[in-house]
Amino acid sequence: MIIMYHYVRLSDSFTSKVNNFYDFDLFKRNILELLEDGKVFLDPKSLTIEQWLEVADDQDNIVLTFDDGYIDHARLVAPFLAEIGVHGLFFVPAKILVTREVLLVNKIHLLLNKFKGREAYLMDHLIQYLNQIEQISTDYISELKTKYFKKGKYDDAGTNFLKRVFQKKFDSRRLSLFCESFLDDEPINFDLLRDELYMSSDDFRSLQEQGHSLGLHGFNHHYLSSLSKAKQKIDFGESIKVFREFGISQDLLVAYPYGDYNNETLDICKEIQIKAGFIDNRNNTKAHCPNLTLPRIDCNDFFINH
Ligand SMILES: [Zn+2]
Repeated sequence: MIIMYHYVRLSDSFTSKVNNFYDFDLFKRNILELLEDGKVFLDPKSLTIEQWLEVADDQDNIVLTFDDGYIDHARLVAPFLAEIGVHGLFFVPAKILVTREVLLVNKIHLLLNKFKGREAYLMDHLIQYLNQIEQISTDYISELKTKYFKKGKYDDAGTNFLKRVFQKKFDSRRLSLFCESFLDDEPINFDLLRDELYMSSDDFRSLQEQGHSLGLHGFNHHYLSSLSKAKQKIDFGESIKVFREFGISQDLLVAYPYGDYNNETLDICKEIQIKAGFIDNRNNTKAHCPNLTLPRIDCNDFFINH
């Protein structure tokens, strides 16, 4: 199995800012239990394409992957993995290593957390924004409500609606400004926040020195399928350039941001010889490109079933 993690944090830190994190102590317990059960953690560096295809379906062999370049991956997860002799695969959006701008995906998490219990208020404003700024018709908004204002697997109806609508591919710069406008009445300092959220370039280098694998996760962490092929290519090119500047010479691996890709993404991956591409669920694989659509299982789903 290829397990996917996002935030892994100490439960007493940062809880006021994000709530969708996996508790670090629980993470450690899970991994130690899997080791006791005789599961084998494979080193992602040494896997061939055939082995990647096998491990995606294998219950006994496991690869651990961590998305988004969070600081806790470098400061908590990696030291623990070193203790037990396991190597992980870390997918890092290159932008956080260069401009260190807070990504839209994280602004949305902050916003959802800040408005916990007041989802209806945020929903009203999001609808106004869709209507006035994005010029979305009232009919389409009603359609979105019918479709998404429903209790989800982990979320109540309001949160589910917000998450699903935020995941629509609206203009990311405008949506980012919308999020900021709701975050800035509280002293959220984005300069401080980015250092609280993301690993530094030294952390990135150190993961590499410790023998972990580093994979691409977009430059801007955009929905790739919302971009033209030319723009997708630029995004890939920018992140590869940063990785090469850090001296990463290993085979290229990519986790598409949000698990989102289209046929043009796959064409680009073939052109630039990406060895393996990862998504976030089993329903979205492509039989003609299995190594570029390797399914991962979210840690929350994996450990509920074990
Ligand atoms: Zn991501």
